[in-house]
Amino acid sequence: MEDNYRHQGLRRKLVDQIRKNGICDEVVLEAIFNVPRHFFIDSGFVEYAYEDKPFSIGCGQTISQPSTVAAQSELLQISKGMKVLEIGTGSGYQAAVLSAMGARVFTIERQRELYFRTKTFLAASYPNIKCFLGDGYKGLKTFAPFDRIIVTAAAPFIPEDLKSQLKIGGRMVIPIDDENNCQKMCLIEKTSETEFTQTQHGDYCFVPMLKKINE
Ligand code: SAH
Repeated sequence: MEDNYRHQGLRRKLVDQIRKNGICDEVVLEAIFNVPRHFFIDSGFVEYAYEDKPFSIGCGQTISQPSTVAAQSELLQISKGMKVLEIGTGSGYQAAVLSAMGARVFTIERQRELYFRTKTFLAASYPNIKCFLGDGYKGLKTFAPFDRIIVTAAAPFIPEDLKSQLKIGGRMVIPIDDENNCQKMCLIEKTSETEFTQTQHGDYCFVPMLKKINE
């Protein structure tokens, strides 16, 4: 698949729209511009890649909306070389945006088919992303602690394992279910081994974070 001037032009417009919606971190905006989103969706739907919408990637899952990817990435406050854990690899787009921001990304997917598909695709262009098949509720103990953790599926609560795998001073961005079947974007900051602060950053709608691994 190619990334031509037309795609880059569409991406420039998308970045302008995301900027208008309130994202001002230039590192995030540049990463959105640098990652060809049309590589991450079925080639028959290239036209839709640069609309600010989620899109089906098969297996009942979606690639997150670009403005949501931008908002979560901005809240994380990534610096180059940081170790970031992502729960919910999906298409790999969010992981690629974090990698374009200079992060070393460890990403977990629970669906075998998506895991294999995305791992193969990412390996060619994103050596800074390591894919794992597993249960996001458990995190990735072997590689902990992480500077940042991002959850890209709707969580019913904040998993204890993820809290313990976050560095002191680290940030976790996680959409938590509210009473209206939507989610509040929560930012968790770890201030000591046992203490955390929590703030809310708007309403979102994600696919659910599921417990049982679908083989
Ligand atoms: N970050 C993705 C968004 C994918 S949608 C992207 O940019 O495309 C959420 C993903 O979370 C789905 O692929 C779903 O299979 C996965 N998921 C759901 N529950 C999970 C769990 N417990 N552990 C790991 N992944 C999970």
